[in-house]
Amino acid sequence: MEIQTQLHRLREMLAPVLETNAFYRQKLTDAGVTHPSDVQSFADYRQLPFTTKEELSTDQVSHPPYGTNLTFPLERYTCLHRTSGTTGSPLRWLDTAESWDWWGKCWREIYGAVGVTSADRLMIAFSFGPFIGFWSAYHGAQQLGALIIPNGGMTSDQRIRAILSNDVTVLIATPTYALRLAEVAEQDGINLPEEASIRVTIHAGEPGASLSATKHRIESRWGARAYDHAGATEVGAWGVMCEPQAGVHLNEDEFICEVLDPETGNPADEGELVITNLGRVGMPVIRYRTGDYVQFKSGPCECGRQSRVLDGGVIGRLDNALIIRGLNVYPATLENIILKFSDVQEFAARVYGTGTLDELEIQIESTNPNPNDTAIAVAAAIRDELGLRAVVKAVPLETLPRSELKSNRFSDERTSQPRA
Ligand SMILES: [Zn+2]
Repeated sequence: MEIQTQLHRLREMLAPVLETNAFYRQKLTDAGVTHPSDVQSFADYRQLPFTTKEELSTDQVSHPPYGTNLTFPLERYTCLHRTSGTTGSPLRWLDTAESWDWWGKCWREIYGAVGVTSADRLMIAFSFGPFIGFWSAYHGAQQLGALIIPNGGMTSDQRIRAILSNDVTVLIATPTYALRLAEVAEQDGINLPEEASIRVTIHAGEPGASLSATKHRIESRWGARAYDHAGATEVGAWGVMCEPQAGVHLNEDEFICEVLDPETGNPADEGELVITNLGRVGMPVIRYRTGDYVQFKSGPCECGRQSRVLDGGVIGRLDNALIIRGLNVYPATLENIILKFSDVQEFAARVYGTGTLDELEIQIESTNPNPNDTAIAVAAAIRDELGLRAVVKAVPLETLPRSELKSNRFSDERTSQPRA
């Protein structure tokens, strides 16, 4: 996407925003931008101030319940959602009918990229509570004309039965929950690759489907192709894995994306993803610091799309890298090492301090008849790949917590604040 086309879209959005959106009018005026025509070039764009989650959160606390990032009167808004609350207190987010349709359009891009059509039958395995999560996937699927199997409030067993009896072809879930469903099916004696019709799984919320070990595990247990997708409540569904599964494309038709060195703020090949959404006029974000750590992949993608590709999707959150004895370790990196052991069913990791030294302890559930052998092998793999000593212990099967949303496998007990 040409930057000029993107800037044209941005100016169209800035016209009403500068007029009536108190939050951005103030921010942009403070930065010397009073008219859409002030943003003519990418250099102008890069002068616009960043938006942070903390800022939005403070604004909602001072102006409850929705803050001042509203371009239209309240009666124009039709959907209320909120962030998952993984980091900090949840933000409330409003969409107008138009901006909610825009979300649906972004999801149709995702469906199109992985070959999902109106002939498919979808199970969007999600609680459909206040978290925006897969509500937008639902809206996009309705626009596409696919059949959606309702499953809010169902148990995992009930969902498996609904997948089988409705010949569901596409499963949408967090990577953690896709694996949990497969585990439940296995306990019920169901051979998913043979008995279920799922051919595509789409994941978000965690890096899993971009991690080779987790992706392979999901694909083999479901007999399907697993695709990653990325997005955020405040931003929209900005990332799409294409059929060659060679990374996550940025949707540069609908978002202006930058990757910046988190320390210098300069453009970089790896760093923090900063995004402006171009179709959510009612409650936009401009140069929003996502906190997602990403890395560009070089060269064109074999799928033929021109948009840039992130290698490994979202590698981690800038605020959840665990610094252990001076090493910067992303939970996703550990997950990828541990789940390469096919007998490991679940794991939990905690970092704690012993005064002078940090210790990493990992509990694993293993189906190996001698689970301690796996524990020793996992510790060796972590030492080889990260140069990090970890205490790995085997615990009985089905004793570690399971999650229907994002997994909570990592805890940092060195501070009073639990990590995200
Ligand atoms: Zn591609």
